[in-house]
Amino acid sequence: MPEGSFRYCDVSLPVPLDRPFTYSLPETLRHRVKAGCRLIVPFGVRKLTGVALRCHDEIPAVEARDALRLVDAEPVLDGELLSLARWIAAYYCAPLGEVLRAMLPLVSDVRAGKVYSLTASGLDAARQLLLDAGPEDPVAEMLRMLEKRPLSAAYLAKKFPLADKALRSLERKGFVIAEQVHAERDPLRAPSERLRVELKHEPGERKLPKAERELIAFLLLHPGSHNLKEVESQVRNAGGAARSLARKRILKLAREPVAAVTAGPVRTRHTLNPAQQEAFAAIGAAIESRQFRTFLLHGVTGSGKTEIYLSAIEATMAAGRGSLMLVPEIALTPAVAGQFFARFGDRVAILHSAFSDTERSEQWRRIRSGAAGVVVGTRSGVFAPVRNLGLIVVDEEHDQSYKQEETPRYNGRDVAIVRAQAAGACVVLGSATPSLESRYNAQRGKYTLLELPERIEQRPMPKVELIDMREEFLETRKQATFSRRLVEGIGERLDNREQTMLLLNRRGFSSFVACRSCGERIQCRNCSVTLTFHRRDRRLLCHYCGYAERVPSVCPKCHSEHIYFLGIGSEKVEEELHREFPRARITRLDRDTVTGKRQYEVILQGFREGNFDILVGTQMIAKGHDIPNVTLVGVVSADVGLGLPDFRAAERTFQLLTQVAGRAGRGDLPGIVLVQTINPDHYAIRMAAAQDYQAFYEKELNFRRMMHYPPFTAMANLLVRSEKQEEALRLSAELGRLLTPAPEKIKVMGPAEAPVPRLKSEFRYQLLIKSASRKLLNVLLRRVRDFALDNKWPATALVIDVDPLTLM
Ligand code: ADP
Ligand code: ZN
Ligand code: ZN
Repeated sequence: MPEGSFRYCDVSLPVPLDRPFTYSLPETLRHRVKAGCRLIVPFGVRKLTGVALRCHDEIPAVEARDALRLVDAEPVLDGELLSLARWIAAYYCAPLGEVLRAMLPLVSDVRAGKVYSLTASGLDAARQLLLDAGPEDPVAEMLRMLEKRPLSAAYLAKKFPLADKALRSLERKGFVIAEQVHAERDPLRAPSERLRVELKHEPGERKLPKAERELIAFLLLHPGSHNLKEVESQVRNAGGAARSLARKRILKLAREPVAAVTAGPVRTRHTLNPAQQEAFAAIGAAIESRQFRTFLLHGVTGSGKTEIYLSAIEATMAAGRGSLMLVPEIALTPAVAGQFFARFGDRVAILHSAFSDTERSEQWRRIRSGAAGVVVGTRSGVFAPVRNLGLIVVDEEHDQSYKQEETPRYNGRDVAIVRAQAAGACVVLGSATPSLESRYNAQRGKYTLLELPERIEQRPMPKVELIDMREEFLETRKQATFSRRLVEGIGERLDNREQTMLLLNRRGFSSFVACRSCGERIQCRNCSVTLTFHRRDRRLLCHYCGYAERVPSVCPKCHSEHIYFLGIGSEKVEEELHREFPRARITRLDRDTVTGKRQYEVILQGFREGNFDILVGTQMIAKGHDIPNVTLVGVVSADVGLGLPDFRAAERTFQLLTQVAGRAGRGDLPGIVLVQTINPDHYAIRMAAAQDYQAFYEKELNFRRMMHYPPFTAMANLLVRSEKQEEALRLSAELGRLLTPAPEKIKVMGPAEAPVPRLKSEFRYQLLIKSASRKLLNVLLRRVRDFALDNKWPATALVIDVDPLTLM
């Protein structure tokens, strides 16, 4: 956009209507608005923050409303990121405004402002003033209101015409203090699990409500700072009491520090071994040539991929360009961040979804200013405004967390490649179990394949044994959770003071609760799935929507008392282990034991330091951890997930088993892996046991080719949902008709009930679309979206998922 003064601006807004809206620019904004700046504009009765796309003087057909405020003096999105946004909107068939919103971390800045509160001497002064001046005096009135709670400058200014001046004078006298507060950062608004509470001083003679007195009594007995959620579990109504006491300034409430970055165990810098060197040489040459190129780094578990990433980032830095490294959600731990700090110091910026908006915008600014030239982040980190981008690394590129499961449903890995192409940068996709798509792209020559077939220092790959649980049953006549072989293996580890990891990719205690008399399985009220029994909380929980209820004492259908529990989850594995090995020190890692980023790290750290003999967990334990003393990995059931109605079920099982097996024997001691299964002949399980990626790839690729699945077709899932079944059915039938007959080269399956036909109180039907041509698929999806818009479908009724990762 040329410099100058324009009267109108096209603004993209986060609304389903996928078109820019034209606003007129008031005099004061005319030459300040640039493309990529955020603007606050009226929209209906609301105010929305949008992104300026283009300023111009073309008089719009309908009268334009005035833009209200400019948020940024300089564009937050440069031309490169704006065109990336356009690509995402087109490819994923998502409204541009929603794409832009997903790209920007800074939304809540808008509400930032000053908040005033009363000091102790201010309190005395207030009382005095009230006596002296009487209730009519505005300053006295203001102080009286502040006595109840802190108030924002904006609010006070609205109530009292002279507030500004009066407040400044009160501040000078020390009667009030001002704090710069970001609305989002206001601790009183944060959920309890993200707050720490600490007593500031004893309340003295003040009269306080019972809950507040009890909380204070507890804090006096337990000095120091505590997580508020934990206190809530011990003191009744602690949450409300703490917030009220914080307003009275008796307590301190502060945000729980997220992922406090410690330097961690400073890793020694390794000299690359020959295999690493060869891989790095290819990447380094590409970085030097400053041309777009994509590498697939396929290295077995423990082959030293990280060291190659670090060298590549160094080379990029030496070339004067910036680097971006993406890691899966769960993998971005303080330990990982620490490695980067150790190597690159304060040139690193970490972008984590657990950070507050304020922390993120701070990092964002450092990146944009060029102060941070190395960025490590999870999925949305792909939008970081890295200057002069020269390299993007996507670690564990097969990981599902790169796919965003809400609009815009983009895959961070694929967006990374498109971004790099525009920037003339290099991409390194790394994995021990590359996705079929990426590996196939390497086969076709689109990507350059680099392989690390051996572990560092020729350490052996772990030996994997399959244990057929059907045979185990025939021999022992017992339905046991652990086979004799696994019990023996764990026992040996305990004797030798070595560590064990046990995987069961299903949380909870029992996965079904059923009635012996009538066969009823207790289901979620909102979803068509069974509720899982969680023993620690004594309740039944829905893993899809979070609905919970008490365990019934009689069957809700036939009132029989013969309720029984079926299916095993990680909580039960832990319990049975305690019974089998009473002296073992056991800990568990799953979504029930990990409610914040810190706990995840605390549990892992404890295990790494040898405070536990056995770590039980779901897939969380399979990701990337490097714990040298683990010599046994047990898989309680390899069959979980294999039977899901999803064409990627086999691939996912293969990846999970290979990854978890890779946790064994990473140190000086060799490792073994014991895999229990009732499907020992299934190719995914057999080939994972053989750790034969190549064989799996070829077999799976054949299956995909035969069945016309990706990577041989472009696929999209159209999900139609409504709380009214009749409406969901009708709309999906309308789509069905729209797509019949299917256009050439396109196959439409459905409409049919979704695999989970009811979820969060909505009925769901889906149409699966396979197309031999990406372009034709895109044309068809646009038609579908326009159809829904033209027919005024409710905004949430249609979900378009391009390149879906799961069909559930
Ligand atoms: P991967 O990510 O491929 O599973 P890592 O990068 O975690 O493997 O490396 C495995 C282990 O090998 C780490 O402990 C790492 O410090 C070590 N390592 C990496 N490269 C070398 C090397 N060239 N010489 C010695 N040890 C190395
Ligand atoms: Zn019953
Ligand atoms: Zn539910």
